[in-house]
Amino acid sequence: MNFKSKLPGIGTSIFAVMTEMANRYNAINLSQGFPDFDVSPELIDLVNHYMKKGFNQYAPMPGVFELRKSISEKISQLYNHYYNPETEITITAGATQALYTAISVIVNSGDEVIMFEPVYDSYAPAVLANGGKPDFIKLKQDDFSIPWDEVEKRISERTKAIILNSPHNPTGKIISKDDLIRLENLLKNRNIFLISDEVYEHIVFDSKKHISICESEILSKKSFVISSFGKTFHTTGWKIGYCAAPEFLTKEFRKIHQFIVFAVNTPIQYAYVDFLKNPDNYLTVNEFYQKKRDYFRDKILQSRFRILNTEGTYFQLLDYSAISDKNDIEFSEYLTKEIGVAVIPLSPFYNSEYDERIIRICFAKRDEILNKASEKLIKV
Ligand code: PMP
Ligand code: GLN
Repeated sequence: MNFKSKLPGIGTSIFAVMTEMANRYNAINLSQGFPDFDVSPELIDLVNHYMKKGFNQYAPMPGVFELRKSISEKISQLYNHYYNPETEITITAGATQALYTAISVIVNSGDEVIMFEPVYDSYAPAVLANGGKPDFIKLKQDDFSIPWDEVEKRISERTKAIILNSPHNPTGKIISKDDLIRLENLLKNRNIFLISDEVYEHIVFDSKKHISICESEILSKKSFVISSFGKTFHTTGWKIGYCAAPEFLTKEFRKIHQFIVFAVNTPIQYAYVDFLKNPDNYLTVNEFYQKKRDYFRDKILQSRFRILNTEGTYFQLLDYSAISDKNDIEFSEYLTKEIGVAVIPLSPFYNSEYDERIIRICFAKRDEILNKASEKLIKV
């Protein structure tokens, strides 16, 4: 058969590759980002309750209305922006589907989309599959902040959108008020959309506050704001997320959404409605993860890894240049196979040549797992 791949340069996601390697070599898996904590028994009971009560058929295409309403209220309270739950919020099968759908809405053949390296792995393939061209800009090397002057220079009439991720996977960097202002100035008179990936909105440390793109009246009018319950409630396997966007964008978003999944898991949507009624269920997550971050950092303080700053997410970057000259893929394989700790190399987050000695670990693990892993890492 004559067949041309839509994604010829794309292999299997590094997260799947490293988890498979961790399992094969029986290594502690600090690679793919997922928590190993129990889900709240209350949330499990709620899902059970709605399943037993018969909430087992298709949800409405845009999502259960009560859930859209509680998301709208939560966003209003936290970020002071009102989204109409009827016309501006859509429940998706995780953030991944929301990102893919939003990209499909705006990207046409030849359109360029600016994204920042290190970049989360799903953005560029989604742009390519829609005939667009990813335009990669490297975050500043010293502190992973956004080089706004370069962004300004890079924008052209082909630039259709910018994809932003804060808190940022894998660096843990969060955007500041200054970033928001720079972005407003850059986009206010331009026909450029924004896709804001905010899945780690509830994992921010050191009394800092997550800034949502919807806090800006200028930006919210041209943005898809995307989040996911998986990170907040230790439920990455349930794959429920959402997209908030102005009505004209949501209308198009739903046209595509309905033919990708139509609707997502019904009983879990109802369970989240009840669970979101208690704001403590999400407002305490920052503190929970800050303790985890500090616990892990403390444990590996005596190792030869250099611990980079992390302001949010459940990821920690480690510089191993004092330990080895191996490139990051080889070093990650070595740690997995020989040391028994699986990690993520950073080069797959780059499109161009990358030769730093940095790896990413996920600290969303029980203390005993972090203890075992750090004992091994200290010996490297
Ligand atoms: N964006 C980022 C930055 C992520 O790290 C992840 C997943 N870990 C996602 C999107 C995807 O989220 P979901 O699992 O809800 O699809
Ligand atoms: N986003 C998670 C990570 O960064 C993994 C999600 C996935 O496996 N696609 O590790």
